[in-house]
Amino acid sequence: MGRWVIIATDRAKRPSDFQREPVANHPGRFCPFCEGNEDKTPPEILGWRQDGQGPNQKGWSLRVVPNKFPALGIEGELARRGEGLFDKMNGVGAHEVIVETPDHTKSLAQLTEKRVEDVLWAYRDRMLDLKKDKRFRYVLIFKNHGEAAGASLEHSHSQLIALPVVPIYVREEVEGAKTYYNFKERCIFCDIIRQEAASGARVIQETDHFLVLAPYAPRFPFETWILPKQHESAFEDSQSHVFESLARVLKRLLQKLDQVLEYPPYNYVLHTSPLTENTQDYYHWHLEVMPKLTKVAGFEWGSGFYINPTPPEETARFLREASLVEQAERKPVLSPSP
Ligand SMILES: [Zn+2]
Ligand SMILES: [Zn+2]
Ligand SMILES: [Zn+2]
Repeated sequence: MGRWVIIATDRAKRPSDFQREPVANHPGRFCPFCEGNEDKTPPEILGWRQDGQGPNQKGWSLRVVPNKFPALGIEGELARRGEGLFDKMNGVGAHEVIVETPDHTKSLAQLTEKRVEDVLWAYRDRMLDLKKDKRFRYVLIFKNHGEAAGASLEHSHSQLIALPVVPIYVREEVEGAKTYYNFKERCIFCDIIRQEAASGARVIQETDHFLVLAPYAPRFPFETWILPKQHESAFEDSQSHVFESLARVLKRLLQKLDQVLEYPPYNYVLHTSPLTENTQDYYHWHLEVMPKLTKVAGFEWGSGFYINPTPPEETARFLREASLVEQAERKPVLSPSP
């Protein structure tokens, strides 16, 4: 992407050096995402519950609802037009909320692997559905966890925004990958996976299907990427076993972040192919996870570059060595989902 980062080793920070409030959920307050408050959200788009139960009532394990205060509206035409030398269009898009659990007290890291997998399936189902709408060019899926990371409701949820344009960050990454591919006839992400797996210095976890790593030039301390080893440009086109594997590595990574950084706020963003472009050979979907530990300020706004006090090799070492969580996790994995 042509983006530089400054790894400020003289400011090197250990996990305990970052000052912040641990993210915690406070049961008892009114919450529109809690079970029993189904009528406090717009009618659901998708709901997973036991057979025989109707929508918009209790008994669900996951719901997708329209955002009550959407950034973009679903109705109408784009009506692209000029205003002098400027361009404008109507704010058409879809803004949905994936409520990941009926339990207010549970974070995504604390859900069972099966429930985390359900969340990923919900992303896929919604993407496949929205893909049919020819007005949309990109489906952006992200999660804000904790107030400091932008979550306005603490109940565990992620968001989906279908956009009539390809976002600039996605455009830059896709174009960068295309330039690399035109030069080398190889996918840059596949090359990164090969090189990083061989070196191991920045690898946090490797499984049969995924590589979890601290990227070579991370913008933020403890920034982590999850990359599928099998080349695939669009998340929603992944084979079914991929969702199960991703649920396992995502849950483990979030648990490790909770352990090492003491329940940090974080964002994650799914980077996947634009809907209307054939990026099959050169783009490779992945998930970028960014704990919110530092502030973005003048230097970052002015340059698009970042100052990061934690080298990626340190990030990888801390998260690799957080092995107690992996041990402790084995038990709930074997027990049936609640
Ligand atoms: Zn709630
Ligand atoms: Zn690839
Ligand atoms: Zn990316």
